Amino acid sequence: MQVLYRSTRGTDKAYTASEAILKGLSEDGGLFVPDRIPKLDLPLSALAGMTYQETAYEVMRRFLTDFTAEELKQCIENAYDEKFDTPKIAPLVEKNGTFYLELFHGATIAFKDMALSILPHLLTTAAKKNQVKNEIVILTATSGDTGKAAMAGFADVPGTRIIVFYPKNGVSPIQEKQMVTQKGKNTYVVGITGNFDDAQTGVKKMFNDKELAAQLDAAGFQFSSANSINIGRLVPQVVYYVYAYGKLLAEGKIHEGEKINVVVPTGNFGNILAAYYAKLMGLPLGKFICASNENKVLYDFFSTGCYDRNRAFMLTNSPSMDILISSNLERLIYRIAGNDPEKNSRLMEGLAKDGKYEITDEMKQNLQEFYGNYATEEETAGAIRRLYEETGYVMDTHTAVAEAVYEKYRQETKDETKTVIASTASPFKFTRSVMNSIDGKYDALSDFELVDQLSRIAGVRVPKAIEEIRTAPVLHDRVIAAEEMPQAVKEILGV
Ligand SMILES: *Cc1c(COP(=O)(O)O)cnc(C)c1O
Repeated sequence: MQVLYRSTRGTDKAYTASEAILKGLSEDGGLFVPDRIPKLDLPLSALAGMTYQETAYEVMRRFLTDFTAEELKQCIENAYDEKFDTPKIAPLVEKNGTFYLELFHGATIAFKDMALSILPHLLTTAAKKNQVKNEIVILTATSGDTGKAAMAGFADVPGTRIIVFYPKNGVSPIQEKQMVTQKGKNTYVVGITGNFDDAQTGVKKMFNDKELAAQLDAAGFQFSSANSINIGRLVPQVVYYVYAYGKLLAEGKIHEGEKINVVVPTGNFGNILAAYYAKLMGLPLGKFICASNENKVLYDFFSTGCYDRNRAFMLTNSPSMDILISSNLERLIYRIAGNDPEKNSRLMEGLAKDGKYEITDEMKQNLQEFYGNYATEEETAGAIRRLYEETGYVMDTHTAVAEAVYEKYRQETKDETKTVIASTASPFKFTRSVMNSIDGKYDALSDFELVDQLSRIAGVRVPKAIEEIRTAPVLHDRVIAAEEMPQAVKEILGV
């Protein structure tokens, strides 16, 4: 049975998966959601023996129903190959009785690679299927990791260009170096003198700008999105939760049907929503523990039912989660509103106009599987230091936010259900914050001395992604105000 994609705001038509991937965002400003969540109609025991690629095929074919088996298998093969430094793709590591699902073994050593290594293939396949003649321009706002992962995926892919906007002072030095050294004739990187939300809002505005779209079309271009609002990113993220469950079964850590909890360090709400979709497919998941840093909008939302972005934006040591507007939450809101686009639209209007909205008690009842909490900067650093001292394992700052929140959850609830923490970045990507958490004495070292020191203390080889940027020349140095984004895009494309 075909799965079609509809807007969470309801006034657009239904699209096939490939059309929805091409469009990225719906015309009415809403996000595409599947009109039904397909069931994972496989015995769970079958998952235990599957490779990552096989699991990806079983999950994705159920969502992307207009892709042929051959097309989808080709996309999966091209994505999950030697770009990853382990054939397991997403290894599950047990420390102190908790399972860390390492999602950072791809080209840019953050979890964005899990979806962004396949999105270019899904997108170019979708373009072929739909006879698209225009060159596809990927517009992306990044809090640090998406931009690099998207560029790594799209660099020199024929028929595509990619323009990335990042907050000039809102990413880690390694993240920035990774982006501004990006090669590829079709890649463009632009710094914004604002924060991530400014960049994201600017990108969304361009997507909704009909006049701009017409100008581009006349010049042979059309926009698409690599942000986590694209269902072509969301669907591949469902895969690793299913895969992790299979591995736990294979290793005899759980019995078939046993529920597990997941903890997800959250920013734009894409990763945790993918886990929720895995549960809706039938995977035995219990609680979704949503971990925030000091930008704790989601914690406040889960505790009060009021989403309110009117607050100071905090720059933290987990910059990929420095977000006050969690775009993908809209998909959850739509669902807990009983898939009612009107109810959802009213709330999103409130968010656009007043920066806030409040859900009804009835909707709140539908959020019981979620638990939200947050970690302060100190708690995050403490979590890194403690796990390192106890086990020798070094986490990155985002994973550490999840770890610290999980500790709070356990103390509050005494829930000892087996738990998977989504480990979203390599510690090598946030070396200074990580090493400072372990011992203040490291702060005197340079960025790359820290890299070598981390390699020594963790007993882990320096990832290729870091070795590559040690000496790479800066190729992108443009910085603009957020209002100038449309102008910059036109200049880049020569429109
Ligand atoms: C993007 C990112 C997150 C947040 O993921 P969302 O899907 O936006 O919630 C967390 N950690 C890291 C390292 C990231 O790159």
